[in-house]
Amino acid sequence: METPAINQAMDILRELRQIAETEDPVSEKLKKILAMIVAQMKADAGTCYLIVDDNYLEPFASIGFSVEIAHKVPLRAGEGLIGYVAQNKRSLAVADVWTHPQFSYHPETGEEEFKSFAGAPLIRFGRAIGVISLHNKEMHEYTNTEIEMLETVAMVMSELAASDEMTELKKELARARGQSSREKYKGVSLSKGYGIGTAVVHRRRQAVTQIFAEDKEGELRKLEAAHTQMNKDLDEKFASTKLGIGEHVDILDAYRMFAKDKGWYQKIVGNIGSGLTAEAAVERAYEDMWNRLSGTNDTYMRERLHDLRDITDRLLGYLSGDRMDGKTVEAPDLIVVAQTMGPADLMDYDYKKIRGLIIEDGTPTMHVAIVAKALGIPVVARIRGIYEEIKTGELVAVDGMDGYVYVHPGQPIQEQFRAKIAEKEKLRARLAELRSLPAKTKDGTRINMFLNVGLAFDLDYIETTNCDGIGLYRTEIPFMASETMPDVERQTGYYRELMDRCGNKKVVFRSLDVGSDKLLPYWSYSGEDNPAIGWRSIRITLDRRAILRQQVRAFLRASAGKELNVMFPMISNLAEFREAKETLMIELEKEKRRKQPVPHKVNVGLMIEVPSIVFQLEAVLREADFISVGTNDLAQFMFACDRGNPRLAERYDVLSAPFLKMMREIVEQAGKAKVYCSVCGEMASNPIEALALIGLGFRNLSMSGSAFGRVKSMIRTANLNEVEDYVMRLLKSENRTLRPQLISYANDHGIEIY
Ligand code: PEP
Ligand code: MG
Repeated sequence: METPAINQAMDILRELRQIAETEDPVSEKLKKILAMIVAQMKADAGTCYLIVDDNYLEPFASIGFSVEIAHKVPLRAGEGLIGYVAQNKRSLAVADVWTHPQFSYHPETGEEEFKSFAGAPLIRFGRAIGVISLHNKEMHEYTNTEIEMLETVAMVMSELAASDEMTELKKELARARGQSSREKYKGVSLSKGYGIGTAVVHRRRQAVTQIFAEDKEGELRKLEAAHTQMNKDLDEKFASTKLGIGEHVDILDAYRMFAKDKGWYQKIVGNIGSGLTAEAAVERAYEDMWNRLSGTNDTYMRERLHDLRDITDRLLGYLSGDRMDGKTVEAPDLIVVAQTMGPADLMDYDYKKIRGLIIEDGTPTMHVAIVAKALGIPVVARIRGIYEEIKTGELVAVDGMDGYVYVHPGQPIQEQFRAKIAEKEKLRARLAELRSLPAKTKDGTRINMFLNVGLAFDLDYIETTNCDGIGLYRTEIPFMASETMPDVERQTGYYRELMDRCGNKKVVFRSLDVGSDKLLPYWSYSGEDNPAIGWRSIRITLDRRAILRQQVRAFLRASAGKELNVMFPMISNLAEFREAKETLMIELEKEKRRKQPVPHKVNVGLMIEVPSIVFQLEAVLREADFISVGTNDLAQFMFACDRGNPRLAERYDVLSAPFLKMMREIVEQAGKAKVYCSVCGEMASNPIEALALIGLGFRNLSMSGSAFGRVKSMIRTANLNEVEDYVMRLLKSENRTLRPQLISYANDHGIEIY
């Protein structure tokens, strides 16, 4: 940069600081900064747009236009040059806007006076939150130096735009426009996808008003009739609903058994015997159970309580004769809104018409969420008061990607939802076409693609994805779904089913990885201060060796005559790996002595998810048959950052030099030692992250079934040689995150990263 430019940059910085440090309201500061940069750059006009509602770019400051445009002419996301800059998160300079394909003309701004444009995005934690632009009447070629200056200003503006003061201002503006804050709600997504339709508020809980009854016989007759009718209807509903196979069907079957449970029924009968009405007796039976179980931290038991609440409500509905609100709504597209819900409740509606589900008290493991996911219904939960807010018949949109609910969405949002739904449908069809095509890069390198499985319905992906095998079987999941600890025989059954389903495909079993966030209903946990770095995973199974012995015995039996691959999670040093491997080898010998059929080959590996093991990798690789990187835990321990804490979610990025260097080290050492190496953490399930992985040298990726098509499409559009060069260069970067660079790289090189 020549001297005048340096001087000018210094001037700009000084002025920026002065403006930022004043006591002026934030909107005033934006205006002053804009005026300053317009003057400094000798532009004729300027604007500062901020993203509102995630969907619009609204001008918050403008200067030099023949009319005041602030807060007047909003743009849709992606619209015009401003929208283009925000969408691509990159600066743009155009000498003649009228020739640019993205330019959209808004006569109400008087912009026909202007010819040239320069825009820079306001970025916060990798997301565009606004755009600053300059406009010139004469044709002007913006220099790199000018763009850099504009970017510096954008950086300062992004701090102001993200301030609490600005958030308040945005809310005030929305209120002034008559958009109450009840238009859009933020919740937690439990199942992805978009849906829009007519709200149906799911059966409100029945209040029991009549508590005592004289006529016990009459109450018993009422109970029996209601109970019989309820079970008859449930049986019919289940028989007429095509649910396929999988975990959700097991859940629904368990629910049906629960509804027929004799113990529960007898309890209600007993309550009637003590003088209660049938309704009060049903409610009391629930309360007894709730009192016993609600204090538990046990997720599984809590889910059973949800089911019991649902069956209780259902039976109360039959007793009072007031059954299902939902049936009365005649609309082609339904959004079901509930406080809480049992899995069978979805069957009260024509589930093919359900476009979304909102559950105020929802949790990711609740059964209805698992069933909804299996049926492809987006679910958003944990929005306080939403159940009371939404009324049956209102138009509601559910964004299960980012966890938003829109009540009475305006026309533009409705259009966006319809477009997104159509786009997703098109994408799904396109990705399905990739099934039979090889996972080969453009320059011919084959990437092996495996599945991560755990729940029964994950297994359907074995056929639908045409995968190379199972790269991670999370064996703790069937343990978590079971009511008691499965013995060797039951475990052998689970594992054999998987082996049979996979035919000749490779299967990697991971030994039990419980503790921390994965709790077993039948074990008591001592409540450690730091469970993620506490007594968990291999640490438990080495200390409670009988569990590990039984599990590996089941692995050996299920793989008799085939190849067995076993890996151990959370290994922190070589000694731990040796101990675990020895346990397996001793069991193998025992099986041989017992003349039991054994696998024809046994490969023993470990997960790389604790940083200490990377510093002992050379020795480990001499004794391990394979390794698999668990990037979820590796990142959590490397950055000292709880993987489940939403406040930290955007702070550290696996796409940053420290983490990628760690990954490079692992794949390089494995390559030198000629030991098979894969990645089975979430990184492999995300196309842009998987792009970095193949660039680093990983050739075996194991991912969730739902990510398969998107990752394959990335692989098939990438030129690996070029990607490798680029990723190696990126390792030198000092940026907090390399995500924007990688995304730009992919966009510029036609690599598909949906
Ligand atoms: C990981 O940590 O990356 C991993 C695959 O294991 P889990 O997510 O089951 O802890
Ligand atoms: Mg892990």
